[in-house]
Amino acid sequence: MQHISILGSTGSIGTSTLDVVARHPDKFQIVALTANSQVDLLFRQCQQFKPRYAVMLDGAAAKLLRQRVSVAGLSTEVLSGDAALEHVVVLPEVDTVMAAIVGAAGLRPTLAAAQAGKKILLANKETLVMAGNVFMDAVSASGATLLPIDSEHNAIFQALPRGYNGDLAASGVRRILLTASGGPFRNTPLSELHNVTPEQACAHPNWVMGRKISVDSASMMNKGLEVIEAHWLFNASADDIQVVVHPQSVIHSLVEYVDGSVLAQLGNPDMRTPIAYGLAYPERIDAGVAPLDLFKVATMNFVAPDFERFSCLALAYQALRAAGTAPAVLNAANEVAVAAFLDKQISFLHIPRIIETVLDALPVSMVNCLDDVLGADAEARRIAQQQIHKIFR
Ligand code: NAD
Ligand code: MG
Repeated sequence: MQHISILGSTGSIGTSTLDVVARHPDKFQIVALTANSQVDLLFRQCQQFKPRYAVMLDGAAAKLLRQRVSVAGLSTEVLSGDAALEHVVVLPEVDTVMAAIVGAAGLRPTLAAAQAGKKILLANKETLVMAGNVFMDAVSASGATLLPIDSEHNAIFQALPRGYNGDLAASGVRRILLTASGGPFRNTPLSELHNVTPEQACAHPNWVMGRKISVDSASMMNKGLEVIEAHWLFNASADDIQVVVHPQSVIHSLVEYVDGSVLAQLGNPDMRTPIAYGLAYPERIDAGVAPLDLFKVATMNFVAPDFERFSCLALAYQALRAAGTAPAVLNAANEVAVAAFLDKQISFLHIPRIIETVLDALPVSMVNCLDDVLGADAEARRIAQQQIHKIFR
Protein backbone atom coordinates (compact mmCIF):
# COMPACT_ATOMS: atom_id res chain seq x y z
CA MET A 1 0.00 0.00 0.00
CA GLN A 2 1.36 3.42 -1.01
CA HIS A 3 0.49 6.29 1.34
CA ILE A 4 -0.04 9.61 -0.41
CA SER A 5 -0.38 13.30 0.44
CA ILE A 6 -1.76 15.58 -2.25
CA LEU A 7 -0.79 19.25 -2.31
CA GLY A 8 -3.60 21.01 -4.20
CA SER A 9 -6.16 18.19 -4.22
CA THR A 10 -9.04 20.40 -5.40
CA GLY A 11 -7.33 21.55 -8.60
CA SER A 12 -7.24 20.08 -12.06
CA ILE A 13 -4.23 17.83 -11.35
CA GLY A 14 -5.43 17.08 -7.80
CA THR A 15 -8.85 15.83 -8.91
CA SER A 16 -7.31 13.79 -11.76
CA THR A 17 -4.96 12.21 -9.20
CA LEU A 18 -7.87 11.25 -6.96
CA ASP A 19 -9.67 9.80 -9.98
CA VAL A 20 -6.73 7.43 -10.58
CA VAL A 21 -6.36 6.66 -6.85
CA ALA A 22 -10.07 5.76 -6.61
CA ARG A 23 -9.60 3.12 -9.34
CA HIS A 24 -7.00 1.28 -7.22
CA PRO A 25 -8.09 1.13 -3.58
CA ASP A 26 -5.86 -1.92 -3.10
CA LYS A 27 -2.74 0.10 -4.02
CA PHE A 28 -3.15 3.65 -2.73
CA GLN A 29 -4.29 5.27 0.49
CA ILE A 30 -4.64 9.02 1.04
CA VAL A 31 -2.96 10.43 4.15
CA ALA A 32 -3.59 14.14 3.53
CA LEU A 33 -5.54 16.36 1.16
CA THR A 34 -4.81 20.08 0.92
CA ALA A 35 -6.36 23.11 -0.78
CA ASN A 36 -6.41 26.87 -0.66
CA SER A 37 -10.01 27.67 0.30
CA GLN A 38 -12.46 25.37 -1.54
CA VAL A 39 -14.40 24.00 1.44
CA ASP A 40 -17.19 22.17 -0.42
CA LEU A 41 -14.92 20.16 -2.68
CA LEU A 42 -12.37 19.34 0.00
CA PHE A 43 -15.19 18.18 2.28
CA ARG A 44 -16.54 15.84 -0.43
CA GLN A 45 -13.02 14.52 -0.99
CA CYS A 46 -12.70 13.87 2.76
CA GLN A 47 -15.96 11.92 2.72
CA GLN A 48 -14.78 9.77 -0.17
CA PHE A 49 -11.10 9.21 0.72
CA LYS A 50 -11.17 9.50 4.55
CA PRO A 51 -7.71 11.08 4.88
CA ARG A 52 -6.06 11.37 8.27
CA TYR A 53 -5.47 15.12 7.63
CA ALA A 54 -7.05 17.89 5.57
CA VAL A 55 -5.32 21.24 5.25
CA MET A 56 -6.91 24.51 4.16
CA LEU A 57 -4.42 27.31 3.69
CA ASP A 58 -7.10 29.79 4.68
CA GLY A 59 -7.95 29.85 8.41
CA ALA A 60 -11.62 30.80 8.04
CA ALA A 61 -12.12 28.06 5.44
CA ALA A 62 -10.42 25.56 7.78
CA LYS A 63 -12.89 26.45 10.52
CA LEU A 64 -15.85 25.80 8.22
CA LEU A 65 -14.37 22.51 7.05
CA ARG A 66 -13.69 21.43 10.65
CA GLN A 67 -17.37 21.94 11.52
CA ARG A 68 -18.58 19.95 8.53
CA VAL A 69 -16.11 17.12 9.14
CA SER A 70 -17.23 16.91 12.75
CA VAL A 71 -20.97 16.94 11.91
CA ALA A 72 -20.36 14.16 9.38
CA GLY A 73 -18.58 12.09 12.03
CA LEU A 74 -15.33 11.84 10.06
CA SER A 75 -12.08 11.34 11.93
CA THR A 76 -10.09 13.64 9.60
CA GLU A 77 -8.07 16.25 11.48
CA VAL A 78 -8.35 19.71 9.85
CA LEU A 79 -5.27 21.95 9.94
CA SER A 80 -4.54 25.35 8.42
CA GLY A 81 -1.70 27.55 7.26
CA ASP A 82 1.65 27.22 5.49
CA ALA A 83 3.32 25.17 8.23
CA ALA A 84 0.52 22.59 8.06
CA LEU A 85 1.13 22.11 4.33
CA GLU A 86 4.74 21.21 5.10
CA HIS A 87 3.76 19.08 8.10
CA VAL A 88 1.50 16.73 6.12
CA VAL A 89 4.12 15.98 3.47
CA VAL A 90 7.01 15.13 5.80
CA LEU A 91 5.06 12.73 8.08
CA PRO A 92 6.89 9.40 8.38
CA GLU A 93 3.84 7.43 7.17
CA VAL A 94 3.80 9.37 3.86
CA ASP A 95 5.54 7.60 0.96
CA THR A 96 4.48 9.79 -1.93
CA VAL A 97 3.68 13.49 -2.38
CA MET A 98 1.76 14.81 -5.36
CA ALA A 99 2.96 18.43 -5.76
CA ALA A 100 0.02 20.08 -7.54
CA ILE A 101 -0.33 23.52 -5.97
CA VAL A 102 -0.25 26.21 -8.65
CA GLY A 103 2.54 28.79 -8.74
CA ALA A 104 5.20 29.91 -6.27
CA ALA A 105 2.96 28.87 -3.34
CA GLY A 106 3.96 25.28 -4.11
CA LEU A 107 7.67 25.84 -3.60
CA ARG A 108 8.07 25.45 0.18
CA PRO A 109 5.98 22.31 0.73
CA THR A 110 7.44 20.66 -2.39
CA LEU A 111 10.95 21.44 -1.17
CA ALA A 112 10.02 20.03 2.25
CA ALA A 113 8.99 16.77 0.54
CA ALA A 114 12.35 16.67 -1.26
CA GLN A 115 14.28 17.27 1.96
CA ALA A 116 12.32 14.48 3.64
CA GLY A 117 13.32 12.02 0.88
CA LYS A 118 9.80 11.28 -0.35
CA LYS A 119 8.73 10.04 -3.75
CA ILE A 120 7.68 13.30 -5.40
CA LEU A 121 5.24 13.46 -8.28
CA LEU A 122 6.07 16.91 -9.59
CA ALA A 123 3.31 18.84 -11.36
CA ASN A 124 4.27 22.21 -9.85
CA LYS A 125 6.82 23.24 -12.50
CA GLU A 126 7.25 26.65 -10.82
CA THR A 127 9.31 24.93 -8.08
CA LEU A 128 11.98 23.99 -10.63
CA VAL A 129 11.79 27.29 -12.51
CA MET A 130 12.29 29.31 -9.33
CA ALA A 131 14.69 27.19 -7.36
CA GLY A 132 15.98 24.46 -9.68
CA ASN A 133 19.42 24.05 -8.13
CA VAL A 134 18.19 24.26 -4.52
CA PHE A 135 15.46 21.72 -5.22
CA MET A 136 17.64 19.28 -7.22
CA ASP A 137 20.34 19.46 -4.52
CA ALA A 138 17.72 18.60 -1.89
CA VAL A 139 16.51 15.65 -3.99
CA SER A 140 19.98 14.20 -4.36
CA ALA A 141 21.02 14.88 -0.75
CA SER A 142 17.98 13.04 0.67
CA GLY A 143 17.74 10.34 -2.00
CA ALA A 144 14.18 11.40 -2.87
CA THR A 145 12.63 9.94 -6.03
CA LEU A 146 11.56 12.64 -8.48
CA LEU A 147 9.04 11.76 -11.19
CA PRO A 148 7.84 14.45 -13.62
CA ILE A 149 4.07 14.70 -14.08
CA ASP A 150 4.03 17.52 -16.63
CA SER A 151 2.99 15.52 -19.71
CA GLU A 152 5.99 16.57 -21.84
CA HIS A 153 8.54 15.81 -19.15
CA ASN A 154 6.83 12.57 -18.32
CA ALA A 155 7.10 11.65 -22.02
CA ILE A 156 10.81 12.57 -22.10
CA PHE A 157 11.39 10.58 -18.91
CA GLN A 158 9.77 7.58 -20.59
CA ALA A 159 11.81 8.02 -23.79
CA LEU A 160 15.18 8.41 -22.03
CA PRO A 161 17.09 5.27 -20.99
CA ARG A 162 15.81 3.75 -17.72
CA GLY A 163 18.05 5.01 -14.91
CA TYR A 164 19.22 8.01 -16.98
CA ASN A 165 22.11 9.56 -15.04
CA GLY A 166 21.91 13.20 -16.12
CA ASP A 167 24.45 12.95 -18.95
CA LEU A 168 22.71 13.40 -22.31
CA ALA A 169 25.86 12.91 -24.39
CA ALA A 170 26.91 9.72 -22.56
CA SER A 171 23.38 8.38 -23.11
CA GLY A 172 23.65 8.98 -26.86
CA VAL A 173 21.05 11.76 -26.85
CA ARG A 174 21.41 14.48 -29.48
CA ARG A 175 18.54 16.68 -28.29
CA ILE A 176 15.19 16.85 -26.61
CA LEU A 177 12.13 17.78 -28.68
CA LEU A 178 9.58 19.45 -26.44
CA THR A 179 6.15 19.56 -28.05
CA ALA A 180 3.68 22.43 -27.63
CA SER A 181 0.09 22.74 -28.81
CA GLY A 182 0.51 26.44 -29.60
CA GLY A 183 -2.59 27.18 -27.49
CA PRO A 184 -5.80 28.90 -28.55
CA PHE A 185 -4.11 31.87 -30.27
CA ARG A 186 -1.77 29.98 -32.58
CA ASN A 187 -3.51 31.38 -35.66
CA THR A 188 -5.22 34.47 -34.25
CA PRO A 189 -4.27 37.57 -36.29
CA LEU A 190 -1.68 39.56 -34.35
CA SER A 191 -3.87 42.66 -34.52
CA GLU A 192 -6.58 40.84 -32.53
CA LEU A 193 -4.34 39.56 -29.74
CA HIS A 194 -4.55 42.89 -27.91
CA ASN A 195 -8.26 42.43 -27.29
CA VAL A 196 -8.50 38.76 -26.32
CA THR A 197 -10.35 38.05 -23.06
CA PRO A 198 -9.41 35.77 -20.13
CA GLU A 199 -12.27 33.48 -21.19
CA GLN A 200 -10.79 33.10 -24.68
CA ALA A 201 -7.31 32.55 -23.24
CA CYS A 202 -8.60 29.83 -20.90
CA ALA A 203 -10.39 27.92 -23.69
CA HIS A 204 -7.54 25.56 -24.54
CA PRO A 205 -8.11 23.48 -27.69
CA ASN A 206 -6.88 20.14 -26.22
CA TRP A 207 -6.42 20.27 -22.44
CA VAL A 208 -8.69 21.24 -19.53
CA MET A 209 -6.50 22.91 -16.89
CA GLY A 210 -6.44 25.52 -14.12
CA ARG A 211 -6.73 29.18 -15.17
CA LYS A 212 -3.12 30.22 -14.57
CA ILE A 213 -1.57 27.44 -16.66
CA SER A 214 -4.26 27.99 -19.32
CA VAL A 215 -3.18 31.63 -19.76
CA ASP A 216 0.46 30.47 -19.74
CA SER A 217 -0.40 28.06 -22.57
CA ALA A 218 -2.04 30.84 -24.57
CA SER A 219 1.07 33.05 -24.24
CA MET A 220 3.38 30.02 -24.59
CA MET A 221 5.02 31.06 -21.31
CA ASN A 222 3.99 27.57 -20.22
CA LYS A 223 6.39 26.14 -22.82
CA GLY A 224 9.04 28.59 -21.68
CA LEU A 225 8.65 27.42 -18.07
CA GLU A 226 8.79 23.85 -19.37
CA VAL A 227 12.09 24.48 -21.18
CA ILE A 228 13.54 25.60 -17.84
CA GLU A 229 11.89 22.62 -16.11
CA ALA A 230 13.51 20.25 -18.66
CA HIS A 231 16.86 21.92 -18.09
CA TRP A 232 16.80 20.95 -14.40
CA LEU A 233 15.15 17.56 -14.71
CA PHE A 234 17.39 16.23 -17.47
CA ASN A 235 20.51 18.39 -17.12
CA ALA A 236 19.90 19.78 -20.61
CA SER A 237 21.17 23.18 -21.81
CA ALA A 238 18.97 25.68 -23.65
CA ASP A 239 20.60 24.51 -26.91
CA ASP A 240 19.72 20.88 -26.16
CA ILE A 241 15.98 21.67 -26.07
CA GLN A 242 14.02 22.32 -29.27
CA VAL A 243 10.38 23.38 -28.97
CA VAL A 244 8.14 21.84 -31.65
CA VAL A 245 4.61 23.12 -32.16
CA HIS A 246 2.32 20.11 -32.64
CA PRO A 247 -1.30 21.28 -32.53
CA GLN A 248 -2.90 17.83 -32.03
CA SER A 249 -1.16 17.22 -28.64
CA VAL A 250 -0.89 13.49 -29.34
CA ILE A 251 2.89 13.23 -29.18
CA HIS A 252 3.76 14.49 -25.72
CA SER A 253 7.49 14.96 -26.50
CA LEU A 254 10.44 13.15 -28.08
CA VAL A 255 14.08 12.26 -27.52
CA GLU A 256 16.45 12.25 -30.50
CA TYR A 257 19.46 9.92 -30.32
CA VAL A 258 22.78 10.18 -32.21
CA ASP A 259 22.04 7.08 -34.29
CA GLY A 260 19.03 8.86 -35.82
CA SER A 261 16.42 7.14 -33.66
CA VAL A 262 13.71 9.39 -32.29
CA LEU A 263 11.65 7.99 -29.42
CA ALA A 264 8.28 9.54 -28.67
CA GLN A 265 5.52 8.95 -26.15
CA LEU A 266 1.98 9.26 -27.52
CA GLY A 267 -1.46 9.24 -25.97
CA ASN A 268 -4.72 11.10 -25.68
CA PRO A 269 -4.27 14.47 -23.97
CA ASP A 270 -5.38 13.34 -20.51
CA MET A 271 -3.23 14.06 -17.43
CA ARG A 272 -4.34 10.81 -15.81
CA THR A 273 -1.76 9.02 -18.01
CA PRO A 274 1.36 10.71 -16.56
CA ILE A 275 -0.26 10.73 -13.10
CA ALA A 276 -0.87 6.95 -13.21
CA TYR A 277 2.65 6.44 -14.55
CA GLY A 278 4.08 8.37 -11.60
CA LEU A 279 1.85 6.69 -9.01
CA ALA A 280 2.61 3.14 -10.14
CA TYR A 281 6.22 3.62 -11.36
CA PRO A 282 7.89 1.39 -12.44
CA GLU A 283 4.70 -0.59 -13.05
CA ARG A 284 1.76 0.34 -15.28
CA ILE A 285 -1.84 0.62 -14.09
CA ASP A 286 -5.18 1.49 -15.66
CA ALA A 287 -5.66 5.28 -15.68
CA GLY A 288 -9.22 5.38 -17.03
CA VAL A 289 -7.89 6.99 -20.22
CA ALA A 290 -9.51 6.08 -23.53
CA PRO A 291 -7.19 4.17 -25.90
CA LEU A 292 -5.52 6.31 -28.55
CA ASP A 293 -7.29 5.89 -31.89
CA LEU A 294 -4.61 6.61 -34.50
CA PHE A 295 -7.15 6.36 -37.32
CA LYS A 296 -9.14 9.16 -35.72
CA VAL A 297 -5.97 11.24 -35.23
CA ALA A 298 -5.08 10.54 -38.90
CA THR A 299 -2.79 13.57 -39.32
CA MET A 300 -0.09 15.11 -37.16
CA ASN A 301 1.51 18.47 -37.92
CA PHE A 302 4.74 20.03 -36.72
CA VAL A 303 5.89 23.64 -37.06
CA ALA A 304 8.68 25.73 -35.58
CA PRO A 305 7.65 28.14 -32.79
CA ASP A 306 7.03 31.77 -33.74
CA PHE A 307 9.16 33.70 -31.23
CA GLU A 308 7.73 37.05 -32.35
CA ARG A 309 4.13 36.10 -31.75
CA PHE A 310 5.07 34.27 -28.56
CA SER A 311 7.67 36.58 -27.04
CA CYS A 312 7.11 34.93 -23.64
CA LEU A 313 8.87 31.84 -25.00
CA ALA A 314 11.83 33.96 -26.11
CA LEU A 315 11.95 35.63 -22.67
CA ALA A 316 12.07 32.23 -20.96
CA TYR A 317 15.00 31.05 -23.11
CA GLN A 318 16.69 34.37 -22.32
CA ALA A 319 16.16 33.86 -18.57
CA LEU A 320 17.46 30.27 -18.73
CA ARG A 321 20.62 31.47 -20.49
CA ALA A 322 21.06 34.30 -17.98
CA ALA A 323 20.69 31.69 -15.18
CA GLY A 324 20.96 32.58 -11.44
CA THR A 325 17.91 34.50 -10.23
CA ALA A 326 16.63 35.30 -13.76
CA PRO A 327 14.17 32.36 -14.03
CA ALA A 328 12.71 33.18 -10.58
CA VAL A 329 12.26 36.81 -11.70
CA LEU A 330 10.61 35.65 -14.94
CA ASN A 331 8.26 33.36 -13.02
CA ALA A 332 7.26 35.98 -10.43
CA ALA A 333 6.65 38.71 -13.02
CA ASN A 334 4.59 36.25 -15.06
CA GLU A 335 2.45 35.22 -12.07
CA VAL A 336 1.67 38.84 -11.22
CA ALA A 337 0.96 39.75 -14.85
CA VAL A 338 -1.26 36.71 -15.44
CA ALA A 339 -3.27 37.44 -12.27
CA ALA A 340 -3.76 41.05 -13.47
CA PHE A 341 -4.84 39.83 -16.91
CA LEU A 342 -7.34 37.38 -15.35
CA ASP A 343 -8.55 40.33 -13.26
CA LYS A 344 -9.01 42.40 -16.44
CA GLN A 345 -6.53 45.06 -15.30
CA ILE A 346 -4.18 44.62 -18.26
CA SER A 347 -4.41 43.24 -21.79
CA PHE A 348 -2.98 39.94 -22.97
CA LEU A 349 -0.10 41.65 -24.80
CA HIS A 350 0.89 43.53 -21.65
CA ILE A 351 1.98 40.22 -20.10
CA PRO A 352 5.29 39.85 -22.04
CA ARG A 353 5.95 43.59 -21.84
CA ILE A 354 5.71 43.58 -18.05
CA ILE A 355 7.94 40.50 -17.77
CA GLU A 356 10.55 42.05 -20.06
CA THR A 357 10.57 45.30 -18.08
CA VAL A 358 11.03 43.40 -14.81
CA LEU A 359 13.82 41.22 -16.24
CA ASP A 360 15.58 44.34 -17.53
CA ALA A 361 15.18 46.15 -14.20
CA LEU A 362 16.71 43.48 -11.97
CA PRO A 363 20.37 42.48 -12.11
CA VAL A 364 20.95 38.71 -12.22
CA SER A 365 22.60 37.28 -9.12
CA MET A 366 23.69 33.80 -8.09
CA VAL A 367 21.35 31.42 -6.26
CA ASN A 368 23.03 29.75 -3.30
CA CYS A 369 20.05 29.17 -1.04
CA LEU A 370 16.29 29.49 -0.87
CA ASP A 371 16.47 33.04 0.51
CA ASP A 372 18.22 34.19 -2.69
CA VAL A 373 15.24 32.89 -4.66
CA LEU A 374 12.62 34.35 -2.34
CA GLY A 375 14.36 37.75 -2.38
CA ALA A 376 14.39 37.85 -6.19
CA ASP A 377 10.78 36.67 -6.28
CA ALA A 378 9.65 39.46 -3.94
CA GLU A 379 11.55 42.19 -5.83
CA ALA A 380 10.17 41.01 -9.16
CA ARG A 381 6.61 41.01 -7.82
CA ARG A 382 7.04 44.56 -6.50
CA ILE A 383 8.28 45.91 -9.83
CA ALA A 384 5.67 43.98 -11.83
CA GLN A 385 2.96 45.43 -9.59
CA GLN A 386 4.32 48.97 -10.19
CA GLN A 387 4.09 48.40 -13.94
CA ILE A 388 0.52 47.23 -13.61
CA HIS A 389 -0.42 50.32 -11.58
CA LYS A 390 1.02 52.47 -14.38
CA ILE A 391 -1.19 50.69 -16.93
CA PHE A 392 -4.33 50.37 -14.78
CA ARG A 393 -5.32 53.62 -13.15
P1 NAD B 1 -5.52 24.56 -10.34
O1 NAD B 1 -5.64 26.03 -10.27
O2 NAD B 1 -6.60 23.79 -10.99
O3 NAD B 1 -5.35 23.96 -8.85
C1 NAD B 1 -4.45 24.49 -7.95
C2 NAD B 1 -4.54 23.81 -6.58
O4 NAD B 1 -3.65 24.48 -5.69
C3 NAD B 1 -5.92 23.88 -5.94
O5 NAD B 1 -6.16 22.72 -5.18
C4 NAD B 1 -5.80 25.09 -4.99
O6 NAD B 1 -6.67 25.00 -3.87
C5 NAD B 1 -4.36 24.97 -4.55
N1 NAD B 1 -3.78 26.28 -4.20
C6 NAD B 1 -3.81 27.41 -4.95
N2 NAD B 1 -3.16 28.41 -4.31
C7 NAD B 1 -2.70 27.88 -3.15
C8 NAD B 1 -1.94 28.41 -2.06
N3 NAD B 1 -1.54 29.70 -2.05
N4 NAD B 1 -1.63 27.58 -1.05
C9 NAD B 1 -2.05 26.28 -1.05
N5 NAD B 1 -2.76 25.74 -2.05
C10 NAD B 1 -3.09 26.53 -3.08
O7 NAD B 1 -4.11 24.25 -11.02
P2 NAD B 1 -3.69 22.99 -11.92
O8 NAD B 1 -4.05 23.24 -13.33
O9 NAD B 1 -4.14 21.73 -11.25
O10 NAD B 1 -2.10 23.11 -11.86
C11 NAD B 1 -1.36 22.73 -10.70
C12 NAD B 1 0.12 22.68 -11.05
O11 NAD B 1 0.33 21.65 -12.01
C13 NAD B 1 0.64 23.97 -11.70
O12 NAD B 1 1.94 24.21 -11.27
C14 NAD B 1 0.63 23.64 -13.19
O13 NAD B 1 1.62 24.35 -13.92
C15 NAD B 1 0.95 22.16 -13.17
N6 NAD B 1 0.46 21.43 -14.33
C16 NAD B 1 -0.88 21.35 -14.59
C17 NAD B 1 -1.36 20.66 -15.70
C18 NAD B 1 -2.83 20.54 -15.97
O14 NAD B 1 -3.21 19.85 -16.90
N7 NAD B 1 -3.70 21.17 -15.21
C19 NAD B 1 -0.44 20.06 -16.56
C20 NAD B 1 0.92 20.14 -16.28
C21 NAD B 1 1.37 20.82 -15.16
MG1 MG C 1 2.98 20.49 -19.98
